[in-house]
Parts: sequence; C-alpha cells; structure tokens
Amino acid sequence: MSGTSALVLFSGGQDSTVCLAWALARYDQVSTVGFDYGQRHSIELTCRQNVLKAFRESSLNTDGLGEDALLDLSVLGQISETSLTREAEITMSEQGLPSTFVPGRNLIFLTLASAVAYRRAATVMVGGMCETDFSGYPDCRRNTLDAQEQAISLGLDREMVIETPLMHKTKADTFAMAKGLGGDELVEIVVEHTHTCYLGDRSKRHDWGYGCGTCPACDLRANGWDDWQAAGCPTDPAG
Ligand code: ZN
Repeated sequence: MSGTSALVLFSGGQDSTVCLAWALARYDQVSTVGFDYGQRHSIELTCRQNVLKAFRESSLNTDGLGEDALLDLSVLGQISETSLTREAEITMSEQGLPSTFVPGRNLIFLTLASAVAYRRAATVMVGGMCETDFSGYPDCRRNTLDAQEQAISLGLDREMVIETPLMHKTKADTFAMAKGLGGDELVEIVVEHTHTCYLGDRSKRHDWGYGCGTCPACDLRANGWDDWQAAGCPTDPAG
C-alpha cells in the first residue's frame, strides 16, 4: 500500500508492539498514540518509551515511524471503580471480566485516536484488540469495531479503517507473528521491553518477559510463550 498512513494504538504491551511492527511492514507512515489514564503503574508508560527506543535502535525497518502522542485520560479515573485506577485486589466477575475492566474504555480510546488520526491524515487505525484471549471485552469484538468504524467514518466525513491483526490470534500466535515480522530481534524486544503484568511487577525476568507470574495477564503470556515454544517457535507467514 503506497502513500498510506496509519495510526497505531500503542500501549507498550506485547500486542500493540506486534501491531506496530505489523503496521511498519504495511504502511508508508506509522505514528503512535497512547493513553495515560492514571494507570496504577506508570511502568507501562515507561515501557512504551523503551519499546519505541528499542525499535529505533534495532535493525528493523523503522523508516516510516513517526510521531508519538500520549493523551491524558485521567478523567477515566473519575468514572471507574476498578482496580486499574485504585489500589484494590484484582478479582474476576461472573462474566469472566477482571475488575480492571473499564466499561467502554476501548470505545473512548478509538474515538480519541480517530481525532489524532484525522489530524495526521491517517486513514487507518491499528489496534491489538483480540477476541481470542479476552473474549469478555465486548468493545474489543469485531462487531463492535465494525459499528464504530462506520460511526467514526460518518462523523469525520472521511473513511477510517480499523485494522485488528490480532483479532483471532492466540498469544502463541502473537509470538509467531513477532518472529515473522522481525525475527529473533523483535521477539527479544517483546520479551525485554513490553509490559503485561496487571500488578506492574518487573522485578523478575522469566523466559517470556517480566511479571509477577501469577496474575491473569502474566498467566496468559506465559502460557502463550510455552505453547509457542512447544510448537517449535513457528513463524507466522502473515506476520
Ligand atoms: Zn503479573
């Protein structure tokens, strides 16, 4: 796709990091946007910067990598009762949603990102939304995104496409994509620099990266790594 410009919703986690590599392989210009919503652990925001730095210092093709923006969304703390923004234990609801879930958070992210994309003349937004691992998040499902894509395109009077390359991928698939997109170098960036742990623990490095090793996010990532290793570290040709 020549002359195309994409905006990646970039949190500094494994998924959005692989999305960034995916976008860099497809679009001429790729910029990033992230959200500071009073995360309990600013470690996530530090990791964001470290991942971007690691990309620029790597041998990966980052010619198209442009501006990064961090939007202040501390307002979410005012409308959230969850442990993501308050010091409380993470629990799972009856619907299988962790208490870190902020209702409709992704809808808000995409709406704000679309304004940034408009300003940057990007016609594509790329996000790491995934039905496979977190099927409990209703605003990360493709049917929601299809509807929002339409609403945004109408509201901006400009066609805006929402790409979700990880929608049907498992965490093991995402490691395979990382290898396909950037070889061992990108896998190492994911392991060393991205952040996943709900508790913000980076005191211990495992084979799969840093984390407490017991929260649901660490669990998911560790299992994905193990599955990928057990399969012989395959490379995803789509990645
Ligand atoms: Zn953890």
